[in-house]
Amino acid sequence: MHALKGTKQTIEHIQKRVATRKKKNSYIKSEKTRKKMSLLLKGRHLSPVTQFKKGNLHYNWKGGISTINQRIRSSSEYKLWREAVFKRDNYTCRFCGQRGGILQADHIKPFSLFPELRFALDNGRTLCEDCHRQTNTWGRPKKMYYDTSTNKKFQQGAYRPH
Ligand SMILES: [Zn+2]
Repeated sequence: MHALKGTKQTIEHIQKRVATRKKKNSYIKSEKTRKKMSLLLKGRHLSPVTQFKKGNLHYNWKGGISTINQRIRSSSEYKLWREAVFKRDNYTCRFCGQRGGILQADHIKPFSLFPELRFALDNGRTLCEDCHRQTNTWGRPKKMYYDTSTNKKFQQGAYRPH
């Protein structure tokens, strides 16, 4: 402002200065820039898991499988499968032998990757919560899964063998 000291500032002067500043700092983005940014941000997800699921153009798109998975997990068929696994294993953790407590029915071959084995009794095993956490298929599908029967290795959630 020192340079303007002593200069009479008209409205035009001020308006011109404000306009230059806006342009320089570009804090008001042009329509073009905003469109470009919106395109860049479109389809971007915080998690690579949801990013993978985005868009029906993806070669592996299964038509909203996440909701289907959720529905299956809460279905009565799934509950029956769990119960059958527990019963067969006599409500005992197959890893540490703990009986009762918080037991979970684990899919030996991952639920998400082997839909045909979702309700196969042979594909289920009773595990206590602690042991279940230690399996390499527990939790978010981020770890590599090694399928011993086909000798195939793949990222869970990112690839499904055909
Ligand atoms: Zn256990």
